[in-house]
Amino acid sequence: MLKRYEFSVPTQDDVDALNAAFEGERPEKVLEWLAQNAPNGEVPLVSSFGADSVVLLNMIAQINPDYPVLFIDTGKHFADTLSYRDKLKAHFGLTNLNSIRPDADDLKQKDPFGSLWISNADSCCDLRKTVPLDRAMASRKGWITGRKRYQTGDRAKLSVFELKDGKLKVNPLASWGPKDVAEYVRDHSLPGHPLVPRGYLSIGCAPCTSPVEEGQDARSGRWKGSDKSECGLHI
Ligand code: SF4
Repeated sequence: MLKRYEFSVPTQDDVDALNAAFEGERPEKVLEWLAQNAPNGEVPLVSSFGADSVVLLNMIAQINPDYPVLFIDTGKHFADTLSYRDKLKAHFGLTNLNSIRPDADDLKQKDPFGSLWISNADSCCDLRKTVPLDRAMASRKGWITGRKRYQTGDRAKLSVFELKDGKLKVNPLASWGPKDVAEYVRDHSLPGHPLVPRGYLSIGCAPCTSPVEEGQDARSGRWKGSDKSECGLHI
């Protein structure tokens, strides 16, 4: 186990060493280590407050409810997601939850009618998600995601630690499957997202999220009918 990691500029060697050190470890161990080694908001949890988000939020809150959590408020979320975010904030006593938003002038210029998602979903994700997150990351060393290998082909080789544009990306649940998530939620009696019982198994912005049939891939409800499978944060 690594004793101490200086959060200077992470290198691929650092990432390789971290992956070797945490091979087979429980997600909580990864988070505990981050809480000890990145105590000043350097590596926040970025949460969508979607279908599975409650797992990492619970783990983080158990370790330290002051741990920084970021929510990308695209302006296109379901009202249910916003109320679920507020409910979980109170439930876990999160004291350091912050919303990041697209720049108002950018929105006025590039998406004045709020319909960019129809004509160019990639540009819309860029405007409403990637650019705001990049801005928030400028002063940080990395971030924690809830991605898992089983979710899409693009994520099949996901490591717990990655390097992207000089930032650490930490995926504590990389090896988890739907059964692990369901068992964790059940064992900890965690409140679920109100849209899950209606078939929304992966939840992003309202215009780009559809319910899926039983047995279908959860992420097949995202950008349904197009070949888009990622919003750009993870490409
Ligand atoms: S998910 Fe849809 S509405 Fe949300 S930012 Fe991307 S294209 Fe826009």
